[in-house]
Amino acid sequence: MQITEHVHALKIPFQVPVSPEINIDRFVNVFLIFGEDICLVDCGVASADKVIFDYIRSTGRKPEEVSLIIQTHSHPDHIGALQTVKEQCGCPVAAHASEINWIEDVELQFSERPVPGFHSLVGGATKVNRVLNDGDMLDLGGGIELEVIHTPGHSKGSISLFLPNEGVLISGDVLPIPGDLPIYEDVLASVDSIRKLQQIDGVDVLLSSWDETRQGSDVKRVMEESLQWLQSIHESVIGTAANGSVTDPMQLCAQVVAKLGLPQIAANPIVAGSFAANLRAHKSRNLLEKDVMQDD
Ligand SMILES: [Zn+2]
Repeated sequence: MQITEHVHALKIPFQVPVSPEINIDRFVNVFLIFGEDICLVDCGVASADKVIFDYIRSTGRKPEEVSLIIQTHSHPDHIGALQTVKEQCGCPVAAHASEINWIEDVELQFSERPVPGFHSLVGGATKVNRVLNDGDMLDLGGGIELEVIHTPGHSKGSISLFLPNEGVLISGDVLPIPGDLPIYEDVLASVDSIRKLQQIDGVDVLLSSWDETRQGSDVKRVMEESLQWLQSIHESVIGTAANGSVTDPMQLCAQVVAKLGLPQIAANPIVAGSFAANLRAHKSRNLLEKDVMQDD
């Protein structure tokens, strides 16, 4: 779907096999910036290459015109088809330094973060050719520039991308969606990253990997709701842990998932990992205010 003059969003549906009997339906968005060449932002899950290439052909362009792939981060639903896309396009891959290990060594990623169905989601490992840093301006040709914004929290090297000319912000998985699975490694960094995105002037269109396109006043509202959602989760985790009866991380996860009204399937080790990040940040009762209590 064309979003602005040069930016298109493409929804990739997929299933996560959480057990032999249960598959969860999900989707992830990838983004295409059509200039003199084509820049692809994220690659979706394994086999998404066909959807991406069919889409490029439907616009009258050719897959071989993809001259740069940017990974917002290294999670399976974002790098799944990277190997195949890169092989067919022969173009460089760019990512933040903190994501390179898990893109170039997917078995390392699986050993450190065993997402259910990992090997059905990820096609293979791929070399990263270019390291992206906060503040980098990428010249995509034809007057199209892309600013790299380091927005850690969801993962250490998560980046967002801003196209000032068209007021488009691509935020990857940086913004947690109220009611959806909360996934972050460092909740305080997540809050800081969302604050950083809120400070950018001229964002007219917000493109998030797990959400629909947001425009106009919705952009600021969605960012604020993400912050409030993080705070609700934080209060629930800290409150549940404080009553002292729950010590097992999965038991804590199940209780918080129930309190927040999340689907039972959210009681899993990945979400339990997010709640562990809340516990590490327990000195901040309110994530949205600087109220860190000092140790005596
Ligand atoms: Zn992710």
